[in-house]
Amino acid sequence: MATALCCLIYFCAIFRAPSALAQPPAANQMPSVIEVPAEAQASPHFDATAATNAYLAQIPADKTARSDAYFEGGYWMILWDFLYGAAVALLLLNLRWSARMRDLSERVTRFKPVHTFVYWLQCLFAATVLLFPLTVYEDYFREHKYGLATQTFGPWMLDQIKGFGLDAVLLGLLVVLLFGVVRRLPRTWWIWGAVVTILFTTFIHLIGPVYINPLFNQYTRLNDPKIAEPILSMARANGIPAKDVYTMDASRQSTRMSANVSGFANTMRITLNDNLLRRGSPEEIQAVMGHEMGHYVMNHIYKTLMFFSIMIVLTFVYLYWGLVWALKRWGEKWQIRSVGDTAVLPLVVLLASVFIFAITPILNTFIRTQEYEADMYGLNTSRQPDGAAQAAIHVGEYRKMNPGPVEEWIFFDHPSGRNRIYAAMRWKAENLKLFTGH
Ligand SMILES: [Zn+2]
Repeated sequence: MATALCCLIYFCAIFRAPSALAQPPAANQMPSVIEVPAEAQASPHFDATAATNAYLAQIPADKTARSDAYFEGGYWMILWDFLYGAAVALLLLNLRWSARMRDLSERVTRFKPVHTFVYWLQCLFAATVLLFPLTVYEDYFREHKYGLATQTFGPWMLDQIKGFGLDAVLLGLLVVLLFGVVRRLPRTWWIWGAVVTILFTTFIHLIGPVYINPLFNQYTRLNDPKIAEPILSMARANGIPAKDVYTMDASRQSTRMSANVSGFANTMRITLNDNLLRRGSPEEIQAVMGHEMGHYVMNHIYKTLMFFSIMIVLTFVYLYWGLVWALKRWGEKWQIRSVGDTAVLPLVVLLASVFIFAITPILNTFIRTQEYEADMYGLNTSRQPDGAAQAAIHVGEYRKMNPGPVEEWIFFDHPSGRNRIYAAMRWKAENLKLFTGH
């Protein structure tokens, strides 16, 4: 559940990963300065494929091996996260810990909303403790192993505790609302449950940039005129309110170079992270900001909310049938009385995680398609194909550059580095006059 929310909060790139400034430069870093190779210089013999290959050839082999290993390991992490999460849910059900937590909450109060919230706190705490070995491996040790994390254990743990507090309050509110709906509307709860979840997701997305993200990172307006002016000019040219370009201290947690669009309506903002600001060339920063503006102008946030709304409705339809089916078989054994019984929650999470796991390639493809659109928009507006190629190489520190097509379709939520560089060089090939001066 938390992952789905994160997906929405961090639209373009998720970098709330573990990560301390005092450490030496990460071992996996690509060269900061990426020259335009001879084959990618504008000339009468310019060839997009040769230019793409020349860019890729600038990446040292050991860096490719390392980022491939990191990214491919991520495919397995999707599976382990799913299996481990399922095992935790089954443990809570089969050992009847969930039923006992419900009994305990009933002893605290019979007032349903408070009862549900007390159950939620126990259940979230138990699940967090049981999941902790995988969380600490995946988000702390694995990130450090690949040189992507900058945080020591203490600050990392503090971020985890903040995350727990947020889940306790915000997801707790959703759980209370949903159980209220199920108890009052036993036949139609799946419709109204979906409506409540969609409104809640929209609300979190709206408040995220202003009230949630600043709990983890500092957001400041980008004031350096050398960097800001070309971006603001591009923003004005595209009808975007210029006040909405921000920078944030992502280096607190991670070495990742990234940018994103978050929020919507009054809270929509384009954010450039400090790793990109420090290491990216001016051309690269303009290319990335052009891409982010593409998300903004093409209303990707509204389209994503719409898409997720459809997915939420499908999830509730599936839960409506799935819960009845599972409770008929195992309800008695797990001491769950009905769909409206709070003790059912681990089963809800288990069924939902099966659904989300199964549709991962569809989610990735939806997001990747928008990312490709934003890449095209970014090239057209920034006119920095070489900056775009540099950015593709820099994010290659944590994404595989050159996957097979099926692999890209299933696992990639952005186009692969090779495809992004090729698209940039294809654009350059058709616009050579901008670079030759005649
Ligand atoms: Zn994007």
